[in-house]
Amino acid sequence: MCAMSQQVLYGELFKDIEDKLTNIDDYAWGEELFEFPIIVYTKNRSTIPGYKRICNEGIEVGLITINPNIAGMIEIVPALYEPSNKRVYIKDTQFNIYWKNLRKSIQIGIENNQEYCEQNDIKTPEDIVDLRILRDDIHEPYIQNGIIKIRVRKVDVPKEIQTKRTRQSKLDNPLNVFFYSCNRKGSRQVHDRECDVLDSIPDDKFMGSTEIPDGYILCKKCKRNLLIRMGCYPNTKQIPICGRFFHEHRVGTTEIEKMIDKGMTFHAEDMNVMTINGIEDTWQVRAVGDNVSLWHNNYVRVSNTERYITDGFHNQNYTGNMTGMLRYIEGYTWQKHLQGEERKRIKAEEEAKVIVVEDERNTNWYYMIIDRIKRFLRKI
Ligand SMILES: [Zn+2]
Repeated sequence: MCAMSQQVLYGELFKDIEDKLTNIDDYAWGEELFEFPIIVYTKNRSTIPGYKRICNEGIEVGLITINPNIAGMIEIVPALYEPSNKRVYIKDTQFNIYWKNLRKSIQIGIENNQEYCEQNDIKTPEDIVDLRILRDDIHEPYIQNGIIKIRVRKVDVPKEIQTKRTRQSKLDNPLNVFFYSCNRKGSRQVHDRECDVLDSIPDDKFMGSTEIPDGYILCKKCKRNLLIRMGCYPNTKQIPICGRFFHEHRVGTTEIEKMIDKGMTFHAEDMNVMTINGIEDTWQVRAVGDNVSLWHNNYVRVSNTERYITDGFHNQNYTGNMTGMLRYIEGYTWQKHLQGEERKRIKAEEEAKVIVVEDERNTNWYYMIIDRIKRFLRKI
């Protein structure tokens, strides 16, 4: 049984509009397409494999189909035709618009060319549609109700690879600073992300954290690097510079640990200056060659006991090495500074009193005689 050819039925209607279609080089009736694989591409034509070659010979074609719902009933589906391989390329968005009608046209072609289609295993219009460009390891395209849909394939990842990925994602998370094994029977040490010891932790025991878990201590091997990472946090680029700064000015790991314990942080962008956020104040250790000087943030005093911190730094005139400076910073609070001033004031007052007493002594005749006797007795 033959289906009625659309070309025969609607040929006249197409002739009516043919002259108006100027952007297309050639036409094919949908019912002729059973012989031509339709390849669906996505985004733009450059995603078509071998497009450089195809674009040289490709012809802009209009695929003629019938849409009973539009005036004139003739619908033109834009496509690219590759003559050497007899392939038709349609963009996925166009496909989704036109496929319902186009498949009806192709179905007529299949019915009227049964011998060819049986030989080529073409049973439905979908059998000539090739969705390979839209397919990859995860995405499986399919046609449902005339539209291309994409199914995301559940790829069975072996448990081993999954735990490896989980380990990597813990390392990739920039918030994680401490890495360790969750096997609490083990050494209970936390490590820096670059510590060699991490290699010995199995993937399924590997943990990353923003804090040191209870009962864990810092690994001796990577402690210094870990402390510097903590001090620079969240800036990681400054870790090597700060490391060099401490090394060149012979600051020990214990000293850096003390700073971290006190909640101090440090930053350096070059070898000239390290800025240290102390307990309340900000400090700078400025280096010229081997020599270091300590600079303290400027502040304005508003009363005997109050101040506010302003821009810039003043030289603290501290004499000593960088370790000494760090200890000075660790011990400095505004309160202690005021207490120091108070001690100085009391001492100065006491010294003034002694001078007054001695002056009085020197002028009183009674004391003058006593002192003379004392001096005389010492000589005997
Ligand atoms: Zn370590």
